[in-house]
Amino acid sequence: MANQDDTFKKVISHAKEYGYVFQSSEIYDGLSAVYDYAQNGAELKKNIRDYWWRAMVQMNENIVGIDAAIFMHPTTWKASGHVDAFNDPLIDNKDSKKRYRADVLIEDYCAKIEAKIEKEVKKAAKRFGDAFNKEEFLSTNGRVLGYQEKIKTILSRMAKSLEQEDLADVKALIEELEIADPLTGSKNWTDVKQFNLMFGTKLGASAESAMDLYLRPETAQGIFVNFLNVQKTSRLKIPFGIAQTGKAFRNEIVARQFIFRMREFEQMEMQFFIKPGTQGEWYEHWKAHRMKWHLSLGMGKENYRFHDHEKLAHYADAAADIEFKFPFGFKELEGIHSRTDFDLSQHEKHSGKKLQYFDPEENKSYVPYVLETSIGLDRMFLAVFSNALQEEALENGTTRTVLKLPSVLAPVKAAILPLVKKDGLPEVARKIVEELKWDFNIIYDEKDAVGRRYRRQDANGTPFCITVDHDTLKDNTVTIRHRDTMKQERVNIDDLRAIIKKEVDVRNWLMKMA
Ligand code: ATP
Repeated sequence: MANQDDTFKKVISHAKEYGYVFQSSEIYDGLSAVYDYAQNGAELKKNIRDYWWRAMVQMNENIVGIDAAIFMHPTTWKASGHVDAFNDPLIDNKDSKKRYRADVLIEDYCAKIEAKIEKEVKKAAKRFGDAFNKEEFLSTNGRVLGYQEKIKTILSRMAKSLEQEDLADVKALIEELEIADPLTGSKNWTDVKQFNLMFGTKLGASAESAMDLYLRPETAQGIFVNFLNVQKTSRLKIPFGIAQTGKAFRNEIVARQFIFRMREFEQMEMQFFIKPGTQGEWYEHWKAHRMKWHLSLGMGKENYRFHDHEKLAHYADAAADIEFKFPFGFKELEGIHSRTDFDLSQHEKHSGKKLQYFDPEENKSYVPYVLETSIGLDRMFLAVFSNALQEEALENGTTRTVLKLPSVLAPVKAAILPLVKKDGLPEVARKIVEELKWDFNIIYDEKDAVGRRYRRQDANGTPFCITVDHDTLKDNTVTIRHRDTMKQERVNIDDLRAIIKKEVDVRNWLMKMA
């Protein structure tokens, strides 16, 4: 089995080779942690965004979508807490001069202990065979319990120190655990310092009158400041949600994992406004509902897990991540946060405007509580793309590279291939393209032998190849080849639209959430 680094390298090079993701400004040697989506990547990203929007906005009559500006009044970020508290604790290694997030170093240390637990589980599963009960083993095995206790102690100490801004203790913890620079092994650390992640910029022409602005570090605040405008104009009653997708910017300290952690990225967020006191049930509801959305894409239940936060953000009373098994292990893909009335109350305070809802059932006004679901579009892209990329051993002893994207998300739905470039076959193939392009993203390819064209489309993630041959001229049938099974069928040209639609239609995929 290829190791994690190799798998991840393959993902990155495949994304480049097949026109999914390019390094930004590559001809100038690139810009660190900034990426461009290429011809296929832009389509895949759009399809993921649409899939989310359809599930969130179109399928819920009490959720509406907005598109707020990236620039916001600077007081927004004072109110939200980002000016004072949107910091990462960073630490430098004096020998390697590399900079790390102190909390990530500690979390990675715990992940290694977690890996030891996994090892014990595997060993025991082998030893006990069919009689093995994982739950029981995890709750009774002495060694495993010891590891779990250690993780808990470390993480809760870190959470407490960060909460109390006791950065000296965070450093002390790193030293006590003897955490070394992962690249060089050096344990020669500086003190831990806070670093604000917002990008600053200026609005206005002259230096004197210019106003300091920030590029938004999250899309959520554009929703909060519009809460009352949307509520009044839509006349929605609580509970209701406002959804938004858009760019966010963070000056990330450690940005090394391709599109997992970028400085410019896109979020898909939904803020659900609820009656105070009901946050517990809505928290559970949205956790379950968002997991269903993920599972509807068929990327394997075993690749997801929930992770409840030990360290709560300043605004939250409960928070969990949906983690996905990326090529470098389980990491956060989406966050579900119970944000209380923190944001709206803060904006009331800083703006002097009331942001309250009059509840006709209760006959009183209150500041609603908020339940948030927040997912990174680029992270979702990486999850989908890395999960889809497979090397498959074939019966004839060769291997093929195939990108098994959920077909609802695939950039190109079908490739139309004339078997040869003569005898009128290209003309028929072109006619099929002209017919199908009204409904689907289709491409025409006549270059190289048909076998090579199949492989090219496999690697590109195209669910169907449709081949026009000499029989087509006689009986109006074509061969349709399925990417995942490589099975080929003979079908009538007039049936193509229905066959493709059945496979790629959003409806058929989203129905799996029901
Ligand atoms: P992390 O702990 O990984 O830094 P976070 O907890 O700060 O993430 P949130 O502020 O909850 O992230 O943002 C919500 C979602 O936005 C995350 O679940 C993630 O999918 C995405 N996201 C956050 N930061 C980045 C980034 N730098 N690049 C790409 N996606 C990101």
